[in-house]
Amino acid sequence: MLEVDPYSKLQQLHDSMEKMTKTIESLENDILETLKENTELKVENQLLREKLDKLNNHNEPAVKTQSGLESLKQIYDSGYHICNMYYGSHRDPSSDCMFCLDILDNFGEKKNVKRER
Ligand SMILES: [Zn+2]
Repeated sequence: MLEVDPYSKLQQLHDSMEKMTKTIESLENDILETLKENTELKVENQLLREKLDKLNNHNEPAVKTQSGLESLKQIYDSGYHICNMYYGSHRDPSSDCMFCLDILDNFGEKKNVKRER
């Protein structure tokens, strides 16, 4: 019976590790894609809800928009773009995105509401 020499064994181990690394890398990519898609859908869902709210409550000031704004803010704060430009992609947490801030500012057209002490 043929004995596999230690070097060949090591070589086999090395090969299978490389395969595993490749599998892990492609899984990582898949997960990133999924996360990105998930965020895109969250943002889109939120914006659609907002539009629907506006359509439904023409005359009433929509109280619900505040919670919509909150969840958009949460998405933004958790490091994702909510703007059309970069939609759902990762945001540089150290700097704000003008387009995102614009959306947050104008969300529900509450721009002129100021709170003064
Ligand atoms: Zn942005």
